[in-house]
Amino acid sequence: MGEKHDRLALGIDLGGTKILTAVGNTKGEMLSRDHSITPATEGQQAVVRSIIESVDRAFDQAHISAADLAAIGIGAPGLSNPETGILFTSPNLPGWKDVPLRDIIEKELGRKAFLINDANAAALGELHFGAGRGARNFIYITISTGIGGGIVIDGKIYTGALGTAGEVGHMTIDNNGPLCRCGNKGCWETLASGTALAREARRQINEGVRTSILDYVDADVEKVTAEEIHKCAEDGDSWAASLIARTGYYVGVGLANLVNVFNPEVIAIGGGLSNIGDMLFEPAFRVAEERSFDKAFRATRFALAELGRNSGVLGAAAFALEQVRNAGKVQQDE
Ligand SMILES: [Zn+2]
Repeated sequence: MGEKHDRLALGIDLGGTKILTAVGNTKGEMLSRDHSITPATEGQQAVVRSIIESVDRAFDQAHISAADLAAIGIGAPGLSNPETGILFTSPNLPGWKDVPLRDIIEKELGRKAFLINDANAAALGELHFGAGRGARNFIYITISTGIGGGIVIDGKIYTGALGTAGEVGHMTIDNNGPLCRCGNKGCWETLASGTALAREARRQINEGVRTSILDYVDADVEKVTAEEIHKCAEDGDSWAASLIARTGYYVGVGLANLVNVFNPEVIAIGGGLSNIGDMLFEPAFRVAEERSFDKAFRATRFALAELGRNSGVLGAAAFALEQVRNAGKVQQDE
């Protein structure tokens, strides 16, 4: 087996709107990277074709072929089982039900593949190559339209009995809170995501609150987004600032739960909403401190995620290399 075989993996980050593929090595360096759109509405076969086309371009760029890879890692949105390689369902991929995605990719590319949830892949990316470097107990959360996350315990991603663990965005924060897309009420992401921030803003505007934000959106309430609210707050609108602080409060409540349950060394926070910075995080950390065990809170380092959009694709590749390494160890032990 050549040197390349042990060290190179292909990462696939399948999103609801975008597909990212990259050839990565054990240091988290990308030899190539390709992105394309996910033809989600055209069905499963079209999406798989789009993945393979992107992979071919990534191979060309890196001047390698599938034979040069140790393995392939696939990060996919929704609920999946890493043991069986089956994607149960995905809110971002309509019509997908119990799809053997790992086997499909394995067959297409002729190399061993592994399937993992996209947020778990991103957590592994940050653990190995980003904000979580060196940590054994680590939590990654991404706050954007929803809240996703991944939990690393003693150096390993925690996937639970069926593989669905780590859905931090769906812990109940307010049992009478807003209805979540998962069917539950008051999930963390219904109160602390960018979508939640914008929804609350629109609700208050419709109730007649005084704010300058309508100047930013051509007086169209439907155009109010987290980004506009942030801009408006930075320009001195106290209502917008208070809405961000309210969202920060709920971010903090969820962080306190994570600190108390997991006592992590590092919590890395990524996603679009984290770009707001101090206006969001000052109230968040204040509330998190108030609500968590002193000792555990002081031992937790909160950091911004470092890899941006590449966390998932790098993490998927790292996961594949890790699985191959572990399989090798088991063989040696036998
Ligand atoms: Zn939910």
